[in-house]
Amino acid sequence: MAPYFTDKWLSPGALYREGRALKRELDDSRRRIAELFGGSANEIVFTASGTESINLAIRGVAFASQHRGHHLITTQIEHRAVLDTMRQLERQGWQVTYLPVDGDGLLNPADLASALTDATTLISIMWANNEVGTIQPLAELVRMVRDFNPSIAIHSDVVAAAGYLPLDVTDLGVDMVSISAHKLGGPKGAGLLWVRRGVLQQPIITGDDRERGRRAGMENVPAIVGIARALEIALPAASTRAEHVGRLCDQLLVGVPSSVPGAVITGHRTQRAPHIASFCFERVDGEALLQQLDVQGIAAASGSACASATLDASHVLKAMAVPTALAEGNLRLSLGPENTDTDVQRVLTVLPGAIERMRALRGR
Ligand code: PLP
Repeated sequence: MAPYFTDKWLSPGALYREGRALKRELDDSRRRIAELFGGSANEIVFTASGTESINLAIRGVAFASQHRGHHLITTQIEHRAVLDTMRQLERQGWQVTYLPVDGDGLLNPADLASALTDATTLISIMWANNEVGTIQPLAELVRMVRDFNPSIAIHSDVVAAAGYLPLDVTDLGVDMVSISAHKLGGPKGAGLLWVRRGVLQQPIITGDDRERGRRAGMENVPAIVGIARALEIALPAASTRAEHVGRLCDQLLVGVPSSVPGAVITGHRTQRAPHIASFCFERVDGEALLQQLDVQGIAAASGSACASATLDASHVLKAMAVPTALAEGNLRLSLGPENTDTDVQRVLTVLPGAIERMRALRGR
């Protein structure tokens, strides 16, 4: 990314030589990215985050297909980028169905089947959940929707899955996927939306014809170069990355419950993203636990990272019917390719003592 802050800083698309060259480089990034997951260059829209991609996917289709209906379907366990967008659309007259999940965080396909109506225009279902790791059977759900009405647009937030699950838009069968660069080792503030050709969308940021009229505003060239490179490194290596983090995660999923009394694993045991280990501990305050771990150099999360400014228990754990007292003692450990056996051993050494101390302070 560095040269694009210094030598190559002029405006892409401007008529001078440097501008034309930069435009070619951006289009080259677009083509290389699309090839990685089975799309085509014109179907990529660069954005400033996963959140923006999700907003564009949902609002873009909801507004463009108003003449066909005002019903949208999603799940109760989506990221707030989806949920808050849906809630705002509800205030503007749309009807939204929030599908429930079971105790493992899995959707029941029958619930989706019975939610579909003639007014449904868009469905948004995440692939892997970022808090508990549970993976939804997307391809099966997509087939069901197509049988009902092929013109319903299907979006999937694959932010937590990309780089660890095999991302191929033909296999998934969806119409739109949202990706965020920083989840893959790329720069913060870079995202993209893949939109299948023919899916009708209205831009949510207007002002010029950039991104084929789907997202106006000056391109963030270093960020685009960065997301392209991050995807080129992570996507083809997804299975080796998954094997590595999966082995480490398994150590946590076995080691934590056996060393911490009353520890509960949250999320599906087998249909789960390989890099997310989530636990709940009774008589523990998740936020205080994070502080204890932080002092020991362990960076972890509790509930949804984005909701960490609030003290409410995670909406995902609530939807999974985890009792509030247990959900308040949630710990999420997300691993990446750079993590090692030593890191896992360190968690397994530090965590039991930290929890024991916290429980002792609370009183037995
Ligand atoms: N969706 C999921 C599943 C996420 O985990 C995140 C962020 O962490 C987002 C969406 C939002 O992406 P961004 O942080 O790039 O806005």
